[in-house]
Amino acid sequence: MLNLVLFGPPGAGKGTQSAKLIEKYHLIHLSTGDIFRANIKGETALGILAKSYMDKGYLVPDEVTIAMLASELSNHTEANGFIFDGFPRTSAQAIALDELLNSKGTSINLMLALEVEEEELRNRLLLRGKDSGRADDSNPDIIQKRIDVYNKETSPVKEHYSVQNKYIGIHGIGDIELIFKSLSAEIDKTI
Ligand code: AMP
Repeated sequence: MLNLVLFGPPGAGKGTQSAKLIEKYHLIHLSTGDIFRANIKGETALGILAKSYMDKGYLVPDEVTIAMLASELSNHTEANGFIFDGFPRTSAQAIALDELLNSKGTSINLMLALEVEEEELRNRLLLRGKDSGRADDSNPDIIQKRIDVYNKETSPVKEHYSVQNKYIGIHGIGDIELIFKSLSAEIDKTI
């Protein structure tokens, strides 16, 4: 199995690159943000709960997010591997993911981290908000809150994978195809 964490702050390009990577490597894309948004659209209890955090730019609580991810993983027993996009976002989630994969006899191969400066993130998110209508991308205060939450709660997750020698930083500004080539080159070294 090939299990990748595609990491990076909001607006780094994780969704765009995930779409390309799943096609090339035949992986299942697990984006916790997408799953929450589908639940919000479907007006499920999980969606209503998640929305109350997402609208403010906060993280959804770990126990809710981890339980959801575990249930998604168990829906895909035949998978070649997974791209985790937007998960793990806290150290507790990273530990839970290791345990979950371990219980299935597998593990994370690599964390690929898209590195993009804050100014560029703010511009990209505002632009995406105009196109997609995503509420959390349309308000500069919420965008800043999400970047701050990333710096404080999510960024330390890098360390979790660095100590396992699985962390690789990739420059995330510039041509989408070139960034995709850099990501693919790192993946190809491990398979
Ligand atoms: P994203 O689409 O990855 O930018 O996620 C949008 C929002 O969903 C985030 O700002 C969080 O409120 C919530 N979210 C997504 N993934 C997670 C996660 N792993 N842990 C907690 N909250 C999450």
